[in-house]
Amino acid sequence: MSAIHFYNTRTRKKEIFRPLKNGQAGIYTCGPTVYGPMHIGNVRSQLFADLLRRFLESEGFAVTHVINITDVGHLVSDADEGEDKMELAAQRAGETAEEIADRYTELWRRDRQAVNCVEPEHNPKATEHIDEQIKLGVKLEEGGYLYRIEDGIYFDIARFPRYTELAGLDLEGQAGAQRIDQVEGKRHPADFAIWKFADPDVRRLQEWESPWGRGFPGWHLECSAMSSRYLGEHFDIHTGGIDLATVHHTNEVAQSECGFGVHPWVEYWLHNEFLDFGGEKMSKSKGNVKTLLDLAERGYDPLAFRYFFLQAHYRQQQTFNDESMEAAARGHSRLVALAADLRGVKDRGDPDKQAAHRTQFREAMADDLNAPKALAVLWDVVRSGKLSSADQRDLLLEFDAVLGLDLAHAERAQEGYESDPRIDGLLKQREAARVSRDFASADRIRDELAAEGVELIDTPEGPRWRRS
Ligand code: AMP
Ligand code: ZN
Repeated sequence: MSAIHFYNTRTRKKEIFRPLKNGQAGIYTCGPTVYGPMHIGNVRSQLFADLLRRFLESEGFAVTHVINITDVGHLVSDADEGEDKMELAAQRAGETAEEIADRYTELWRRDRQAVNCVEPEHNPKATEHIDEQIKLGVKLEEGGYLYRIEDGIYFDIARFPRYTELAGLDLEGQAGAQRIDQVEGKRHPADFAIWKFADPDVRRLQEWESPWGRGFPGWHLECSAMSSRYLGEHFDIHTGGIDLATVHHTNEVAQSECGFGVHPWVEYWLHNEFLDFGGEKMSKSKGNVKTLLDLAERGYDPLAFRYFFLQAHYRQQQTFNDESMEAAARGHSRLVALAADLRGVKDRGDPDKQAAHRTQFREAMADDLNAPKALAVLWDVVRSGKLSSADQRDLLLEFDAVLGLDLAHAERAQEGYESDPRIDGLLKQREAARVSRDFASADRIRDELAAEGVELIDTPEGPRWRRS
């Protein structure tokens, strides 16, 4: 059996995964800033960490997965200036930061459940770990890594020569110099805040006392403090989206290696590439943010989005558009229908006949989590003319423990449909509109039917309907 390999951002190589403790794996995943709903790009980073976790569990590891909740300190800009995202959202909504955080944390949990993510062992909130953050700040201060300026306490990156290592940064080059704006008084543009002082003229909702004065922690500090609390000061795997590597994760490494006196702090850094929207940047101000709820309103099961996610390797950019989502939804519902049929099979499987497929699937996943290849192995199994139905069922359910499509429970969608010439005709018109990419007309027909209480369901045999 070949060894598990992961691509490590820190070393820029695929490496054999060797856990620090035999049979155990500690994973830290940067979680959401809970000031709004997560978009499907954020969902990709959650699905990626979940796939990693599921695979390691299938390999027999006892996994401890920590995902934090950022409910303070994440400023609008990476330059340690601008407003705090939580404070801003609270002001806009006329609510407290806590109310906003609770609402979006709950939504985040529900979204994760909808795409069948396994609950992490720990899900700590930054505001509940202020003491740990201050303690780490004090350690850094004692080590001489910090300095004070008017608006806060900053980390002096000149004291940490390995600062550029994780992301291979070129701080002196053009891109390096421009990457962060200057804050008045900083010694280097990349120096970052450990603690920001509360401005006596601005009433903030979230402030705490500290040895340096009243204020709030810098965003990066929470991940170093909370990971050490739940995983220790040296652990196996840290994940997040690739955008976090150059600033947030680079700063986490600086604080942790200097504060804990370890190198490397984290053995394997795994980063997912972005979900892109055909070159269009998704932003709330443009109003083109897509959430799982938006997809559900278009008739897509959240698990069809998980299927969509599995179709690309996590280190590839993946393009989301109506066509690719539609194709994924069809693939998903075909698989669900096959799974529903196979679940009824009562015979026993033959492990010898299954072995070669099991190996292929495992090899794909052990090679840096190659989910598209693993999914192809699953399709080979369910289409195979040589395997018995019992063997197909066994393999399908076994592979799905890693892929997470919940095929053990998914119900085929095509039972109990109705027929009526007028409505069937409208359905055909809607299909024609979708094929010609006239989504406005397609949506209008769906809305008209919905107003009559007609629910549309996409099935492997095409769209069907029933009265809801
Ligand atoms: P945020 O709430 O913006 O801090 O993001 C939460 C996680 O989602 C981070 O790991 C980001 O790197 C990741 N992320 C943000 N946008 C995307 C995207 N379009 N595709 C994939 N991951 C993303
Ligand atoms: Zn983080």
